[in-house]
Amino acid sequence: MRHDALNFQSNGTRSRDYVVKKRATLTFPKRAVHMPVTYRLAKDFNVAANIIRAQVAPNQIGTLVVELSGDIDQLDAAIDWLRSQDIGISTASREIVIDEETCVHCGLCTGVCPTEALNLDPQTFRLNFTRSRCVVCEQCIPTCPVQAISINL
Ligand code: SF4
Ligand code: SF4
Repeated sequence: MRHDALNFQSNGTRSRDYVVKKRATLTFPKRAVHMPVTYRLAKDFNVAANIIRAQVAPNQIGTLVVELSGDIDQLDAAIDWLRSQDIGISTASREIVIDEETCVHCGLCTGVCPTEALNLDPQTFRLNFTRSRCVVCEQCIPTCPVQAISINL
């Protein structure tokens, strides 16, 4: 079973900024094809969008493959904004999977996670995984003593 419904936001102690890159496929509805998306991402969220592939025709659904880079929180906000504009976004083909049945909540994996996607809940001492923060660096996989973490290719 996966942990991706769990969210950790409670301790508020994050003190560093994390600049991350995410490759994403954006799917535009007809009405959004002319929207200056890369400009808005840069201006409103300080997120750079490097276009890798574009397939956009006037008055048709378009797709754009981009590499987004910026502070992880601003990147999250930018992705939320894209979704609010009815722009489809798919950010990962590979995902970290945590086996909830196997995890013993030892917290070892939290020590290596560079983006604090993995944290122990300060109240319950159970592992929480915030998928939106995960950059799929895979550093957590070898730290788990019970092999509860894997990657879904
Ligand atoms: S893959 Fe990297 S970013 Fe994702 S949970 Fe593991 S250590 Fe954290
Ligand atoms: S290292 Fe493994 S067992 Fe320990 S909290 Fe992380 S996923 Fe769970």
